[in-house]
Amino acid sequence: MTRVLLTIIVGAFFLAILPLGSMLESQMPTTPLSVERIRDGIYMAKGGVGANTGFFVGSQGVLAIDSKMTADASKQVVAEIAKLTPLPVVTMVLTHSDLDHVNGLNGFPQGMKIIAHEQTKADMAKAFAEPSLQPLQAFLPNQTFTDKLVLDFGGETIQLLHFGPAHTSGDVVVYFPKEKVAFIGDLAFIGRDPLIHLQKGGTSFGLVKNLAEILKLDADVLISGHSDPLNKSQIDELMKSIEDKQAKVKALAAEGKSLAEVKAAFNIKDEPSPGGRRWPSLVEIIYQELTEKK
Ligand SMILES: [Zn+2]
Repeated sequence: MTRVLLTIIVGAFFLAILPLGSMLESQMPTTPLSVERIRDGIYMAKGGVGANTGFFVGSQGVLAIDSKMTADASKQVVAEIAKLTPLPVVTMVLTHSDLDHVNGLNGFPQGMKIIAHEQTKADMAKAFAEPSLQPLQAFLPNQTFTDKLVLDFGGETIQLLHFGPAHTSGDVVVYFPKEKVAFIGDLAFIGRDPLIHLQKGGTSFGLVKNLAEILKLDADVLISGHSDPLNKSQIDELMKSIEDKQAKVKALAAEGKSLAEVKAAFNIKDEPSPGGRRWPSLVEIIYQELTEKK
């Protein structure tokens, strides 16, 4: 009983202090940070505040993938890395620009190489213009690319791949071919609708294309920002469920149905998502994409 009560109090506390939108993808606070070994040298740090952070311990340094949402939460990750290797984090790769993946960058060492898609850098520069996020301006990406970047990281080949707009317009898949592992950021959510940031140029049709490209990789572990490690059949299932919804919404839109009618057909209610703010359902996103194109 006390544990339930504590959870409620902690939850309410976080809802009260976090600005609107902060709960976006981290959904609920905050499980203790833990590090899971994926393969030799490849780890994910889950829990804490924010998305999953990945890292690879190379021969001459550590490459990290996404920060947590706060500097303190990222410092916990850095402390966990220090238990595994004396090498510093020298390179950071960002899967996209959302705050729960980048707002903790200043918990990592200064002077890292920070690599992102050029659109992610643009979105971050916009967000970090806000006075309270001033300290993060020193952590804007200092290397960008558009389609593909192949890193030689101390002898390890790591591919950074952009398959077009999906969750945002700057999504990057971080692929370790030798270990058959890929970090896929927020291109897959499990147990909830995919989140598409239309205001960042995201698109559900692009998301299907991205998932199809991920399925072509020779990878058997896929690590997303907010779930346990996934396998290809889960990605395939997700892709098919999105395609199925797209087909249904398309048919209804072609009959001239309104958004309200389409939502009613899918029994979608305007209830707040976890975290108190209502995010549009996938059905609404698809409808908007279809009707805006015309
Ligand atoms: Zn995201």
